[in-house]
Amino acid sequence: MVSVDQKDPIDVVDRQLWRDARDMLRRHVAAAEGGDCDCCGRPWPCTSRRAGERAEVAAFMPFDEAWTVRVDLQSVVRTLDISMR
Ligand SMILES: [Zn+2]
Repeated sequence: MVSVDQKDPIDVVDRQLWRDARDMLRRHVAAAEGGDCDCCGRPWPCTSRRAGERAEVAAFMPFDEAWTVRVDLQSVVRTLDISMR
């Protein structure tokens, strides 16, 4: 889930979490019609989108505050996104 073409913000604390969050947010976008996620088809905002948004913010927090969000994001990837790879 690492993209090499994006620059990390200089003040991000957990770069991998930030990159994973950006990847999740890039994939899970609202469909043009219907009110569901264009990627997973779940009601908008889908669980993956919400986890990505939370992780994007947490990536700027100290590690001791961000680690639970990292676990949450990994859990979403394992349980919901595994079928989309
Ligand atoms: Zn989705």
